[in-house]
Amino acid sequence: MHYNYCPICGTKLKDKKAGDDGNVPYCYTCSKYWFDGFSSAAIVLVANEYGEMAMLRQGYLSHDYWTYVAGYMKPGESAEETAVREVYEELGLKIERLEYGGTHWFPMGDQLMHGFIGFVKKKDFTLSSEVDEAVWINAADAPTLMFPEVPGNTQYPLYRQYLKMTGNK
Ligand SMILES: [Zn+2]
Repeated sequence: MHYNYCPICGTKLKDKKAGDDGNVPYCYTCSKYWFDGFSSAAIVLVANEYGEMAMLRQGYLSHDYWTYVAGYMKPGESAEETAVREVYEELGLKIERLEYGGTHWFPMGDQLMHGFIGFVKKKDFTLSSEVDEAVWINAADAPTLMFPEVPGNTQYPLYRQYLKMTGNK
């Protein structure tokens, strides 16, 4: 998000040189630069000890494709804490081992996604109201539910990392 007005006092911002970053919108009332902002979110491929992955159907996102667990980071949280919290909130599962899956820019939402693979013990889900349905599916079959592979889709890089990690490829 590019700022045109100061989010604190509402003054129209003027470009001011900020070292190596070049011109950046600046509030002369608050003496503050407003660098372009974006949100950060965690996305977690949840896997169990039987080689299955959790796939979630969330009608507010799509009626055709299924998602991984994902959620916005809260100020003060590490991405790891967000990942653990979201998996518990959305599926009611406790992550036993969390592996980092790198960061991925998600252009559709102007978001930086922090990818993870979270290993849990297989259990029935306790779904949050944000999730319409969730299933355990053999990892090999998961792409049939996943969003199409386009640049910016974080599901596939995590999926490939999972396969590599578990010796499937
Ligand atoms: Zn201001």
